[in-house]
Formats: sequence, structure tokens, C-alpha cells
Amino acid sequence: MMKYYSTKGKVSNVSFQEAITRGLPADNGLYMPETIPLLAPSFFEKLPQMSLAEIGLEVAKVFIGDEIPHDRLSRIVEETVAFDIPLKKIEEGIFSLELFHGPTLAFKDVGARFLARCLGHFSGESKQQATVLVATSGDTGSAVAHGFLGVDNINVVILYPKGKVSELQEKQFTTLGHNITALEIEGTFDDCQALVKQAFLEEQLRSDLNLTSANSINMARLIPQSFYYFWAYAQYQKEGLDHPLCLAVPSGNYGNLTAGLIAKRMGLPIDHFLAVSNLNDTVPLYLKNGVFAPKPSVPTISNAMDVGNPSNFARMADLYANELKDMQQHVTGYSFDDKETAKALNEVFQQQGYLMDPHGAVAYLGLKDYLSDRSLSGIFLETAHPAKFLGVVEDIIKKDIAIPENLKACLSKEKKSLPLENTFSALKSFLTEASALNP
Ligand SMILES: *Cc1c(COP(=O)(O)O)cnc(C)c1O
Repeated sequence: MMKYYSTKGKVSNVSFQEAITRGLPADNGLYMPETIPLLAPSFFEKLPQMSLAEIGLEVAKVFIGDEIPHDRLSRIVEETVAFDIPLKKIEEGIFSLELFHGPTLAFKDVGARFLARCLGHFSGESKQQATVLVATSGDTGSAVAHGFLGVDNINVVILYPKGKVSELQEKQFTTLGHNITALEIEGTFDDCQALVKQAFLEEQLRSDLNLTSANSINMARLIPQSFYYFWAYAQYQKEGLDHPLCLAVPSGNYGNLTAGLIAKRMGLPIDHFLAVSNLNDTVPLYLKNGVFAPKPSVPTISNAMDVGNPSNFARMADLYANELKDMQQHVTGYSFDDKETAKALNEVFQQQGYLMDPHGAVAYLGLKDYLSDRSLSGIFLETAHPAKFLGVVEDIIKKDIAIPENLKACLSKEKKSLPLENTFSALKSFLTEASALNP
């Protein structure tokens, strides 16, 4: 059975079930799988013929073994990736992997749907109520809310920074009701994330409420995110292409990039990764000078990446045993400001007729630069549908864009969120009172 250790190494190793129901180990590290085995050559041979769900099942098996019975796991994977993830050619040697065809139009649907179904499986077995606590800078909240909506025995509490997410994003997780509650915090995303972390460190609270995290620190969000790196490669091969590949990942908490690095560790032949950020460049700076110096986040037009203290950096560092040089062999950092991002978004739209969102545009910029003097092909992850950032995108291209139907529907619904002071005691009283109301 696969065990999970803490990157801080101060607690004993746990099963997949415990790793995902706890979310965070008690020593405030992050869970990592004990081994990341190479997949068999036969897997890579048949890769171009496999469906996304078939790929996903083989990868998930490695990390979950038979803790979830094969047939159930197969169904969970199928439901998780029940939408298209196409690879689109944008220009010579540059492709976009469109991860935004899920219900909330962002890549976080993949992780959230997988996590919700795995937790639903385990809580159904134990018949215990659990509370999912999650901080969001925008897209996590909607993906988690939709992923868990109506899942029995699970209440979801979402913390988000007041006035710092777009109206569309906000409406996607504050209009659902049922088992979903949104708390509007007077503070930044980093404040929200700190509050969530603190709640998990309070052993009593954690066990009373069966607190579970759905942030990208949860292993069950990370695992399915590696599926689509294999899938991207399979599609690339199907096109008859065999140039070495570079993957550009628009990054905030670095969960997506970590999932890619794990796929590479499993043998996926990706030559190089780009960790591309907006002005919140903590990781690109580390890759340059070896100093990891978290700082307050600054607001940008790619706001889902406005993270000053990226939580999954601990996993990246762990993967490379804290050896900067080794990480640099596989990963190059870039950061771009809003002006550069807007310019790229506009140019690609005008010249190629392809509309990126601000996050994808940041990654595209990194890719363009990296490929400029190398003979590689590149894929950038298009992590959200441009309509999720309607105002920003329309301002840039000076043109109205169509809003997909499912976004339109939630815009007309009423926002229901609870304002909460930015203190841990306020959060704690809310959680204990809420659970008293909901025995
Ligand atoms: C969350 C998010 C990111 C950043 O992903 P991480 O895994 O946190 O690095 C990028 N783009 C969009 C649209 C997002 O919602």
C-alpha cells in the first residue's frame, strides 16, 4: 500500500485515506507519496491509443492502490474527467492545453471533482459528517463548491478575500446554498490561507469537525492533475510530433506544476518545465537566486495566481531534495507584469485568432521566451476560460466576448455569503457554532 510522508518528517506515514481526509499533516508539512515509481514501458507504448480516463486510472492506481476498489476508482476517474481537454495548435511549435471545459471553466475542476468523489467514497464508508475548509483566490472556491455540491455527509466552508475576486468568480460559489457556505473575509488571499492552515493545526477543532482541506495542498487534488500531462503528451504524439517538449505552467500555489513534475518523475518524457508567474514571483526568484522569500501578494489581472507564499513549493523542494541545481535542471522560472500579459493576450488574439485568458497568457509569454533560442515544441496550460475574466479580457481586446451558458445562469442568482472578521477566533466561533446547528 502506498504511504504518504510529511515533508517536515515529524509525523508517521499515513495511508491515502488519512492523507486526504487530514489534508495537512500535524507538523504543518505537506503529504508526499513515499515513492513515485516509473511507469512501465508498455504504458508509454500504448499511451497514444489510450483515453484520458484510461490514462487517469493507471496513474491513480499507482497512488491509491486498492484503498479504493478498482471499479469504484475507475468510476471516480471517469466522472472526474468527463469533459474534453483538447490540445490546440496556436502557432508553429506552440500548443494550448485547454483545461477549462469543466463545469466551472477552470482546471481546478479536475482536482476538485476527484477529491470530492474520493472523500465521498470514504465518508460514505465511515458514515461520518465531515467539513471541508478551503481558502480561495477565485477559482478554487467555485471548483470545490461544484465538486462537492450535494455530496452526502460533507459540508463545505469557503473563505475568500472580500473585493478581490471577480463578480463572476464570486457568484459561482456564493449562489449554490445546500451544503456550501461562503465566508467573505476582510483581508487578502494569504490571510484566508493562513486562517485555514491555523484551523488544521488545532487538533481539537480538527477532530471535532472532521476538518478536511480541499486546497491544492490536498494530495487528492494533485494526483488527477498529473493525468492531463500524460494526456497532453499522448495527443502531441498522435499529431505525429516528436520534438522534445517544454511545458509552461501559469502558477500561483504551484500545485499544477508539482503534478507535472510528478508525471515527469513517473517517466513522462517532458524535457523542461516553466514556472511562470505574474508579479507574485516568489518561486521564479528562488529559481534564480536560491532564496525562498515569501512576501505579501500583490493584485494582478491574473488574480488566481496572486499568491505570495505558495504552499506547494514545499513539495517542489522535497522532490528535488532541496537541491536548487537539480530543480533548475528541470524548471526555469519567469515572471511577467500585467502590461506584458495584456499585450500578449491581444497580439495572439489579433494575429492567431486565439483568445487566451490572462493566466494562460502569462504562461504563453514564458514559453515564447524559452523557445526563442531552442529547438523545442511547447505546450502552455490554458487554465481558465477567458469569459471568467470578462471585464479584463474585453478591455484588452476591445471587443465583447460571449459568456458560456452555465456562467450566465449563475450571474442572475443572488449572492449569499457571510462577512467574517479576519481573525482566527472569529473563524473558530463560526465553525463551532455552525457544527452545533448541524449535529
Ligand atoms: C489556481 C489557478 C492557477 C494557479 O494554479 P496553481 O496550481 O495554484 O499554481 C492558474 N490559473 C488559474 C486560472 C487558476 O485558477
